[in-house]
Order: sequence, then structure tokens, then C-alpha cells
Amino acid sequence: MKKLFAKIQRKIRAYADEHGFTCDVCGAEVFEYPKHRLCKTCESTLFWNDNRRCDQCGRKTSADGVCLTCKSKPPAFTRGFAPFVYRGDTASYINRIKNGNPRLALFFAERMTEWFIELYPNIENFQNGAETLLVVAVPLTKEKERERGYNQAVEFAERITLTLRKLGYAAETDGELLVKTKETLPQKRMTYRERQENVSGAYRVHKRKACRGRTILLVDDVLTTGATGGECAERLFAAGAKEVCFLVAAAVPEQN
Ligand SMILES: [Zn+2]
Ligand SMILES: [Zn+2]
Repeated sequence: MKKLFAKIQRKIRAYADEHGFTCDVCGAEVFEYPKHRLCKTCESTLFWNDNRRCDQCGRKTSADGVCLTCKSKPPAFTRGFAPFVYRGDTASYINRIKNGNPRLALFFAERMTEWFIELYPNIENFQNGAETLLVVAVPLTKEKERERGYNQAVEFAERITLTLRKLGYAAETDGELLVKTKETLPQKRMTYRERQENVSGAYRVHKRKACRGRTILLVDDVLTTGATGGECAERLFAAGAKEVCFLVAAAVPEQN
């Protein structure tokens, strides 16, 4: 009975995801949903990650080349991608996904997919049958996920996979490949080194075989220092991944 109820609930949600008529941020009327999931006013407040970006992690920079964080210690992932800058309204929208509005993840996941297709140099590999992209969310611990009811990174990963497939790219997602085994402390006020220590040993590849030789798209909501993405990428590379790209909704810009 419980299972059936969950199944019905999922179906209702999937239907609503495609048949809304209001802005996912403010609730104003939107005529072309889901082509437009936000109203024009909310769209205009978004901070796109245009102009200069770090060649390595993808965050907004003021000069060409790599950012100061990557210069001092390059992250383990091959390259980072972020369509938005984690500032102002954009940051608050992304925080809402984590704090009770998982539907808002759809808008961001679709922009993340378009951004990745636009900027990833070997994207045609997933179109011509050469490879299937493996999309993996940065996991939460089981306890944390139960507490929150969902993991926003999983919401992104599932939607990104679906959108890629709709557009003709071979992609799959695996929610059990990477696991978080240790609770980490909130990182808000930590330095890069503290964050690195905090996440060290927190993640483990549960399905090593599934990693071998694969191009992996690691997905999370925000890139701050890159310590979490770097730690996960290190584990995935150790399990035999060929390449690990890191795609986030928004990245904190380079601090000058
Ligand atoms: Zn709106
Ligand atoms: Zn960088």
C-alpha cells in the first residue's frame, strides 16, 4: 500500500513537472510552461556566468587563465562547468531547492545541460554511439537524505540525464555508485584547507566496476572551493574513471 502510494505520488509529480502554469520561483502566471519555468521578472534577476571563466573549475574570473584557487591547488576533476554565478537572487533560488522546493531544480538542471553541451569539447562522443555519459550526483549520507527527504544533487542528475537523452545524447545515471559514509561539518566559514580535511575520506565508490574507463559527469548544486568535487573526483579516478567533469548550478566567483 505504501509502495503504491509512493508510485502514485511520483506520477502526479512527474505530470506536474511538465504541466505547470506558474513561475517556479514567485508563482506568477507563465504561459509557455515548461519551456519557460520562470516568469520574465525572475529570469531577469539571474546572474549568468558569462565573460571570463577559469579554464579549470569554470568559476567567474576577472582575468583569463585559471583562478587563484586552482592556481594554488588544481582540483582533481578534469574541468568544471557552471551556468550561473552564486550571488544574490541566484544564490537564494538555489538555496530554496535544498530547503523545500525540489521542483526549482528542473529549471537549473535544464540550463546546466545546455551549458554542458555548449562547452564540453567532446560532446559528440555521446551522440555517435562511441560512449554513454555516466551522470553521478554528489551524495548525502543516508541519514541526511532521510532528514531532508531528497538530495538536490540527485534531482539535478536525474533531470540532466533525461534532458540529455531527449536531445539525442547517450546518458545514464547511477544513484548507488558513489556514497557518502561520513557526516561532514557545515563548510560555510571554512578555508580551503579546512574544507579539504573535512571532506577527506567522506566519500566512497560503492560500484568500482561501473566506473572503469567511463566519462563521468559529477553533479552538485554549488562550487565553492572545489574541495567536495575534488574529493569525489579523486575517488572516481581511483576506481578507474577515464575522465570526471564537474557540473554545478552555480559557482562562487573568484575573490580578489
Ligand atoms: Zn517569477
Ligand atoms: Zn578555478
